[in-house]
Amino acid sequence: MSEPVHITCSHCMAKNRLPVEKINQEPTCGKCKKSILVDAPIALTDQNFQRFIQNNDLPVIVDFWATWCGPCQMMAPLYAQVSSNMKSQARFAKVDTEQAQQVAANFNIRSIPTLIVYKAGKEVARQAGAMDKTSLTNWVISQL
Ligand SMILES: [Zn+2]
Repeated sequence: MSEPVHITCSHCMAKNRLPVEKINQEPTCGKCKKSILVDAPIALTDQNFQRFIQNNDLPVIVDFWATWCGPCQMMAPLYAQVSSNMKSQARFAKVDTEQAQQVAANFNIRSIPTLIVYKAGKEVARQAGAMDKTSLTNWVISQL
């Protein structure tokens, strides 16, 4: 018997409980009936950030960025590709530090881009500065 996992829906933020083997089978949300896992990173806000990082049994990776940040813009499409490739292994999210100022302050984001990995709602790793796709992929794999 495999342990069920808790995964938060990318659309309605409902917490879903599903058998671990279902993660790779395009699971749908019990509440809104859409695909729980999506290709693109999920934009988090001051309102839903805590809920999202706490209600996922997969590691949650968050890209802290801002619209004026050149390296952030360069890394964004690479981050989206890694998110799409690895969506059943980790949850990929983004925080616009100018919109979600409370989250950015709570985690003391000093430079962007900064990537943080959360497990069970706790920060477990942090990486400041843009990465190329290979480095980004390897870094994510090392955090799983
Ligand atoms: Zn849903």
